Amino acid sequence: MPGAVGSRMRPRLTPALRALLREGAARADAAGEVDREALAALRAGGLLATAVPAEHGGAGADAAAVNALVEQIAAVNPSMAIIAFQHFAVSARIADWGTPRQRARWLPSLADGTWLAASAWSESGAGAAKQNLSTAAERRADGTWVLNGTKAFTTGAGVADLYLVLVRTAPPAAPTGGYGAAGQTFFLVGADNPGLVPDLGLDLAGMRGSATGLITLDGAVVADSDRLGPEGEAATVIASVRESGASLGAVAVGTAQAAFDLAVAHARDRGLMDLPAVRHRLVGLATRLEAARAVVERAGARTSADPGLTTLHSKLHATEAAEEICLDVARMLGSAGYRDGAHIGRLLADARGVSLMGPTNDLCRELVAVSWT
Ligand SMILES: Cc1cc2nc3c(=O)[nH]c(=O)nc-3n(C[C@H](O)[C@H](O)[C@H](O)COP(=O)(O)OP(=O)(O)OC[C@H]3O[C@@H](n4cnc5c(N)ncnc54)[C@H](O)[C@@H]3O)c2cc1C
Repeated sequence: MPGAVGSRMRPRLTPALRALLREGAARADAAGEVDREALAALRAGGLLATAVPAEHGGAGADAAAVNALVEQIAAVNPSMAIIAFQHFAVSARIADWGTPRQRARWLPSLADGTWLAASAWSESGAGAAKQNLSTAAERRADGTWVLNGTKAFTTGAGVADLYLVLVRTAPPAAPTGGYGAAGQTFFLVGADNPGLVPDLGLDLAGMRGSATGLITLDGAVVADSDRLGPEGEAATVIASVRESGASLGAVAVGTAQAAFDLAVAHARDRGLMDLPAVRHRLVGLATRLEAARAVVERAGARTSADPGLTTLHSKLHATEAAEEICLDVARMLGSAGYRDGAHIGRLLADARGVSLMGPTNDLCRELVAVSWT
């Protein structure tokens, strides 16, 4: 039963779903668009319930379970793993910050896969720390809000049903450092809102099946009950994200595992396993992979003195390890890894993409450094 996960249980992909996701990854990489068959299978499989509390129809699983599941998805389909990660992140934000009415309204549909959630925070020109947002929401006399602006790099654009959108609700303040800024607010906007227009115009080098694209808000009207968290205090919600222990490092670990598996298969196929130099290189890769997995597990377990910092470290370490592992595997594959469209080339681009996802690795470093002051 794929959806049968409790807080201490670990969700697992069924062999059938794993195969569908793997096949979908190859099609999506070639086409440069999300594979709808694989996405439909993920939505129908029950696993999207993982981060939703049990009282709202979810599995009530913890961050360790989310990380373990995201890693498994990434090992066969990194693009689908970031779609799932954003869905879990938004589900958790609603569970943590939603009013009882908001939780009852959205969480059951996010749990059973009827709705897929996405995060639309980034904008071109806003900066990685999202301090200079142009997208703004204006409150109208009847209490509703009207949203205008364009969001970039929204994973799941056009396939999601619900978007967690970060907007400015007060004049821009002077940059303060950190992630997000004072005067910013979150709204949940349905894909059926006539003022929300997705555009998949981004042709990415990696994560090509993740439907990462633009979202235009053109006079999108939302109710005040669609606001998630306190007005003007989205930065507090953002800061709480890393405390959960859910880590994009899990995507990096799954991607690196896929690269490692390619190296082992290649060495076996070419009869290279008899060479001690090859075996020892593989052991070196396996050791780095195991260390990356361990720090992601530590983030998910939330057992360190500062779980938020551990989550940042886990993203930094796992993404850097994944890029290095993918590059080393490409070298080990020799000319076979140098063909245009070679699987290892796609995995390397996918691994780079995780480093660029928010908070970007540079910003993670800054957030860790600021915590020392
Ligand atoms: C595959 C992929 C999927 C994504 N999915 C989503 C999504 O679903 N939702 C979403 O909202 N966004 C998403 N993003 C965007 C991501 O969250 C980043 O915030 C965004 O890409 C940063 O934009 P930039 O590199 O243009 O920023 P820039 O600010 O132009 O950054 C340029 C460089 O400077 C560094 N830098 C900038 N500001 C700082 C700072 N304050 N401290 C330290 N270093 C800094 C950056 O790390 C980067 O290396 C995705 C990105 C990718 C690549």
